[in-house]
Amino acid sequence: MTRFNEKEQVAILWHEYYHSRFFPSLRHVFRRVQGRNATWTSEFEADAFSATKNSIDDCLSFLTQLKKLIKSRIIKNLGPRIEERIRRVRKLEKE
Ligand SMILES: [Zn+2]
Repeated sequence: MTRFNEKEQVAILWHEYYHSRFFPSLRHVFRRVQGRNATWTSEFEADAFSATKNSIDDCLSFLTQLKKLIKSRIIKNLGPRIEERIRRVRKLEKE
């Protein structure tokens, strides 16, 4: 079962690529990392990377879909609040 469409999956890959390239040790290990704020920062940066290198619309689409899954309790919101991630990517549209 695919919850994300192709474009959203590409947006996720760009997000993950950022982690693997710039913060390999911080790849989605929120609970193990002591510097929680640092991890959150890399999460925002990974979103921004996906949005600017690939597509703002597709990144927003992926985050919106993620928000639905969090709201319906299918997955947990482990990183920074999803609303804050969406807000920051929306801000990139205006820059
Ligand atoms: Zn991430």
